[in-house]
Amino acid sequence: MPKHLALLGSTGSIGTQTLEVVKAHPDELVVEVITANRNADLLIQQAREFLPNAVVIADENLYQKVKEALLDSDIKVFAGQAALNQVVQMGTVDTVVTAMVGYSGLLPTVKAIEAGKNIALANKETLVVAGDLIARLIQKHQVFITPIDSEHSAIFQCLAGEPEKIEKIILTASGGPFRTKTLDELKKVTPAQALKHPNWDMGAKITIDSATMMNKGLEVVEAKWLFGVQNQQIEVVVHPQSIIHSMVQFTDGSIKAQMGLPDMKLPIQYALSFPDRWHSSFPRMDFRLYPNLTFEQPDFDKFHCLALAYEALEKGGNLPAIINAANEIAVAAFLKEKIGFLQIPLLIEKAMNGIGFIKNPTLDDYIATDTETRKLTQSFL
Ligand code: NDP
Repeated sequence: MPKHLALLGSTGSIGTQTLEVVKAHPDELVVEVITANRNADLLIQQAREFLPNAVVIADENLYQKVKEALLDSDIKVFAGQAALNQVVQMGTVDTVVTAMVGYSGLLPTVKAIEAGKNIALANKETLVVAGDLIARLIQKHQVFITPIDSEHSAIFQCLAGEPEKIEKIILTASGGPFRTKTLDELKKVTPAQALKHPNWDMGAKITIDSATMMNKGLEVVEAKWLFGVQNQQIEVVVHPQSIIHSMVQFTDGSIKAQMGLPDMKLPIQYALSFPDRWHSSFPRMDFRLYPNLTFEQPDFDKFHCLALAYEALEKGGNLPAIINAANEIAVAAFLKEKIGFLQIPLLIEKAMNGIGFIKNPTLDDYIATDTETRKLTQSFL
């Protein structure tokens, strides 16, 4: 039986690679829905190629353009954020791939789970903002969540067939493009430099998050909710070659690692093939080309975002939602050269101190926290 997908964010880095996986496995994967924010041209092109049941363009100003371009087809065209919440619930969809970026992934993911759809999760921000709520919904609706993030896919693969006697999770981090720079040098780095990741080709937001190491901080929170471990059981180790994608140490001291060349198509495919493994023609790794796999302690002073994420995880409540929203505003401001690189953690810290703490937030509290934090962080710019 093929899986029937709603692919949210089909025009992005994860979205386009997911469509490559679909193309390689036409008997196993069928695309029912694709969505984009503003890239109407690529969305139209993808619709013509994959012939989904429906497409959504989140920016309503582009509705006419997409509608007219697909007039000669049976493809339904919708626009707006609310439409995203509806298409994930379509009867023909069984699996929702959340490949949109940022907070915008939260509500569609909630709606998809409530409609009993399985989730292949790339959008880590959803678990950062409201991990406890998502974990409860998954339990309640008995749906399955498979991680796409390479580190979490690695952990998921290490845990397959295990009795879950986890001592700790070891998340590997490449360290990003600025791993060897001094704090002084970091003052002057530009968006263009930050966008040059040494190992991965990704969307702009996650690439900046990798440069600040906030990405690893978000992944620590993501790991807590995906694998149900305690905060102190999650450790980060810098591994610049990005060959070991992450590890699990079990209670007998044994460590399992998942390895491979850095290629997101592999974890995307595994998230969709699980519990099976499908053949792939991705390049294979030759160990002789990687004689040195190295490991370092992350520098929490230089990469203060990582320390802030750990603090948010420890205090819990709506604090992870605050760091997520403040980070999204700060990263966008850095990309527009409105602030310097080292101001990103400063803005996040100011937002953490400026927004009221809520110990046990509801969905409405998370939504309000996100709105207030964005407003406050914008006011600092
Ligand atoms: P991209 O920026 O490349 O793509 C984002 C996608 O989301 C695009 O299709 C974009 O549409 C759409 N989108 C953006 N904003 C909105 C919005 N407000 N409403 C609806 N759709 C929106 O991001 P990535 O593919 O790099 O990342 C996607 C997610 O996956 C992120 O959460 C990231 O952290 C995670 N991830 C990514 C990895 C990677 O290798 N790229 C690795 C691991 C995790 P449009 O094109 O029209 O702007």
